[in-house]
Amino acid sequence: MEFNTRLLHGDSVKPYADGATLPQISQVSAFQYNSAEQQEAVFQHRATGFAYTRVANPTVAAFEQRINELEGGNAAIACSSGMSAITLALLNMLCTGDEIITSRGIYGGTIDLLEDLEKFGITTRYVDHLTPEEIAQVYNERTRVIFGELIGNPSLEILNVKAVASYAHDHGVPLIVDATTATPYIARPISMGADIVIHSTTKYINGSGNAVSGIIVDSAKFKWDFEKFRAFSGYKKYGPYAYTIRLRTDIWENMGGCMAPVSAYLNTIGLETLGIRMERITSNAEKLAYALRGIEGITVNYPKFDDHPQRALVDSELGGNGGGILTFRVGSKEKAYRILNRLKYAIRATSLGDVRTLVIYPASTLYVRRTKEEMEASGVYDDLIRVSVGIEDINDLIEDFTQAIRDEE
Ligand SMILES: *Cc1c(COP(=O)(O)O)cnc(C)c1O
Repeated sequence: MEFNTRLLHGDSVKPYADGATLPQISQVSAFQYNSAEQQEAVFQHRATGFAYTRVANPTVAAFEQRINELEGGNAAIACSSGMSAITLALLNMLCTGDEIITSRGIYGGTIDLLEDLEKFGITTRYVDHLTPEEIAQVYNERTRVIFGELIGNPSLEILNVKAVASYAHDHGVPLIVDATTATPYIARPISMGADIVIHSTTKYINGSGNAVSGIIVDSAKFKWDFEKFRAFSGYKKYGPYAYTIRLRTDIWENMGGCMAPVSAYLNTIGLETLGIRMERITSNAEKLAYALRGIEGITVNYPKFDDHPQRALVDSELGGNGGGILTFRVGSKEKAYRILNRLKYAIRATSLGDVRTLVIYPASTLYVRRTKEEMEASGVYDDLIRVSVGIEDINDLIEDFTQAIRDEE
């Protein structure tokens, strides 16, 4: 089965209640039982069933199963937002004194979160580029996880999942990959060695910008050393499933970061068209990137350019697809603002992965908490515009950006 067929006919796409083609929206907080004994059995995981939506919900479970199948995971756990997914994925396995290694080229919100975690005694060591060589310079006996983004937002830096996973596994730590900007249409990080995959499902998976949510997929392939990963004390009996079980029955459940049933329903509808949207979006992005690159005074970053330093990784990690995001530099903040204000179809909005083309000036929005040095290490400059390309007709998009830039001269 190929990608688009799997989205509609995969093993996890079941006929739902009454033969419905989509799961019903179980927009309830609680489920009732015929007897106290039956309720007890569900609570103690001796019988299947649902008790309370923070713990499990049929609409959410249906979405989790579809994502899990697409990513080739052991279990997927749906969260209230992408940030909630990242927070819970890390807290599930870390204790005070543990360290994270990541690069500066990741999502600004995640860097803000890692700063919050410092107050809990969880330290992050940053490298400029998440490569085995640079990781080796900060790796130490307290390192417990390597965290990367498959296509960095907004650095567009591509993670060499195979090389970094192999370094991580040689050193007995897992690799967590935020694959939000790539989606399973472009790549399945677990098949390349990642242990845990995260998505902000708010973005491409939902696709229409109508719900904030996130998801964690555990491969259950990582061999936890239960002496080293103190977070799993008491979970040794579950072996490779320790991560999923602690997350599901402890951290995620207790911290209350569940996905809303309506969001799961909307995401399920979005997911069914992920393939055709991504095909259109990434083809548009490539054409727009080339069109803008021809304009004098504009420097475009798009990983699929033939002369891009990471072009080989686009082929080896992303199946030759450059993704749906591009960034370009225009010379100054004033010029960037004038261009942003002149766009007719591309809308000025935070977020990405929408059917609509979205533009933002990251330096004064997403990166407002960062210093100039930190910003530049993340690939954000004071004249940079990020474009999340949508499904509009490409000629209209090229015309829109060209007029906004040209009128400038
Ligand atoms: C948007 C985003 C997030 C955060 O997701 P929310 O759903 O907004 O909480 C995390 N990682 C990346 C790469 C993102 O683009």
